[in-house]
Amino acid sequence: MRPNFHPRLVNGPLGDPVLYVSMLHRRRALLFDAGELHALSSGHLVKVTHVFLTHAHMDHIIGFDHLVRVMLRRGRSIRVYGPAPLGDHLASRLGGYCWNLVEGAGGGLLLEVFEVDGDRIWGRVLDCGEGFRDPGRRDQGPFRGVLCREPGFQVRAAVLDHGIPVLAYLLEEPRHLQVLKGSLERFGLRPGPWLGDLKEAVLRRMPQDYPIPVSPPQRGPLPLGWLQERILRERPGQKIAYVCDARDCEANRRRIVELAQGADLLYIEAAFLEEDRERAEATAHLTAWRAGRLAAEAGVCKVVPFHLSPKYASNPEQVTAQVERAFRVFT
Ligand SMILES: [Zn+2]
Ligand SMILES: [Zn+2]
Repeated sequence: MRPNFHPRLVNGPLGDPVLYVSMLHRRRALLFDAGELHALSSGHLVKVTHVFLTHAHMDHIIGFDHLVRVMLRRGRSIRVYGPAPLGDHLASRLGGYCWNLVEGAGGGLLLEVFEVDGDRIWGRVLDCGEGFRDPGRRDQGPFRGVLCREPGFQVRAAVLDHGIPVLAYLLEEPRHLQVLKGSLERFGLRPGPWLGDLKEAVLRRMPQDYPIPVSPPQRGPLPLGWLQERILRERPGQKIAYVCDARDCEANRRRIVELAQGADLLYIEAAFLEEDRERAEATAHLTAWRAGRLAAEAGVCKVVPFHLSPKYASNPEQVTAQVERAFRVFT
């Protein structure tokens, strides 16, 4: 099965946390955390439509301004999610710049910021055309686990304790629509971005006779129902969990295992070796042993440790090996 989500840990296991997830046949990408972003080209950054921040410690958010700079005049909006008081943090970061050249110009960047505060979600829009002035937050309703629902994906969140509230995320594909390559060829069709449009139209439950432009263009447009029946097959969706910065306590362990249950892939911080547990406890981080054990308890297919302390820069393999060992022992 060709996956729809293509995740990439941009700065490797030792650099700032950034998970870039591109989507098959879509001109869009999701970002989990926004540490240093210079390893991503502008071409990659302009695809970002949603940013999910775990918290506002510097290493998780320092790249955000770079993203704003790249997107400033493209007439787009980005949805940004995180724990309260994320909106205040972003408004004061952006309040540190002068915006006179873009204020009132129109066609500028809109940031739709949503923050989880206890059992409610609050939102605000920071508008480039208004110099990103803070309008204050507004109640968006109760928080019941699902933060964001879009046609091809949804994202759940769990609140963890890291001395401050932190969000851990689960990216889910509610329905996976697989393209049958053989059928494409049989009907003289070629792969391309139109397959993403077709899947989106199916997920949006558009009518069966809804016309879909295809490739090559002279073969279409073809009705959605005709294409769905012949070239798509439904499979269980992909699940990717992202857990970064959490104290090793009973409540966090329970929430992580619940959120990541049965995920295909779990990205989890493994800041310190079990032998350095004191350091982990002092900074409210997980150890490698605990990270591997949590992955096993959640029954994930694969665990990817990251956010290792620079202390292990000369030998990160000892940390990743400890995660793997715990994962095997407890599976
Ligand atoms: Zn942190
Ligand atoms: Zn961190």
